[in-house]
Amino acid sequence: KGKRAFIAGVADDNGYGWAIAKSLAAAGAEILVGTWVPALNIFETSLRRGKFDESRLLPNGSLMEIIKVYPLDAVFDNPDDVPEDIKTNKRYAGSANWTVKEVAESVKQDFGSIDILVHSLANGPEVSKPLLETSRNGYLAALSASSYSYVSLLKHFIPLMNPGGSSISLTYIASERIIPGYGGGMSSAKAALESDTRVLAFEAGRKHKIRVNTISAGPLRSRAAKAIGFIDTMIEYSIANAPLQKELSADEVGNAAAFLASPLASAITGAVIYVDNGLNAMGVGV
Ligand code: NAD
Repeated sequence: KGKRAFIAGVADDNGYGWAIAKSLAAAGAEILVGTWVPALNIFETSLRRGKFDESRLLPNGSLMEIIKVYPLDAVFDNPDDVPEDIKTNKRYAGSANWTVKEVAESVKQDFGSIDILVHSLANGPEVSKPLLETSRNGYLAALSASSYSYVSLLKHFIPLMNPGGSSISLTYIASERIIPGYGGGMSSAKAALESDTRVLAFEAGRKHKIRVNTISAGPLRSRAAKAIGFIDTMIEYSIANAPLQKELSADEVGNAAAFLASPLASAITGAVIYVDNGLNAMGVGV
């Protein structure tokens, strides 16, 4: 029987979420995605108009099918959390049931269960500010969108995950090494995400036989990364200094995610897996 995956954080064909969707689809999984509400319209329109058809191409020559796109805002757990200005915001008012709890309920109603949960989203409104200049609100917003969003997703989706299921998030080495420019509390958010990966692996493993891992990915020119502003420098740095001197492709991260979601990884949980051409292993630049 084929597996079903829900991938949160897909809004175009450039990011890690899209590449993970493709690798899972190529391995035979059914693909559902969660798309940030403000990005929903343009993503669905582009999908419908065939703008992504070239990048939907799978190794067997078929096109990846996204079975359903769910609007999602992972900083809200249920309707009571949503402030008035968001409720009445034009971009939100056109969609319904996009809080984490409601999305999980909708997926349960539509499909009953899933096997794979992917968290490929992050947001830090003050990411371009050094930590010393980050406001309390900016810091907490980064943690809310990039770390707690994962706790919340897993909490609400676990009841519909089949035993033996697998959950994956995306992290960045700025959690453990100094990466100037990755500010606004985003380095803190990734440290929390990695620590939570271990605790959640224990809790979800004991209670539901679900594995929880995170991929520490190298630099990719995604929409989110371009907004930070130093992505080209990071890519050049990696090519100059990593053991493998090539640009990292999103598919390499997608394939690692497909492995982690598969029975081939049945004893791997609570792990931070580096998919970064080996850059993490270097002690100095060369
Ligand atoms: P991306 O822009 O493709 O993905 C980020 C997604 O998060 C977007 O689709 C955005 O709409 C969504 N999003 C933001 N706030 C949201 C919210 N409140 N609710 C729901 N969705 C929301 O960029 P990406 O770089 O592929 O990012 C995916 C993951 O990979 C992130 O966790 C990121 O930190 C991580 N990562 C990226 C890099 C890199 O260099 N690009 C490196 C390591 C880790």
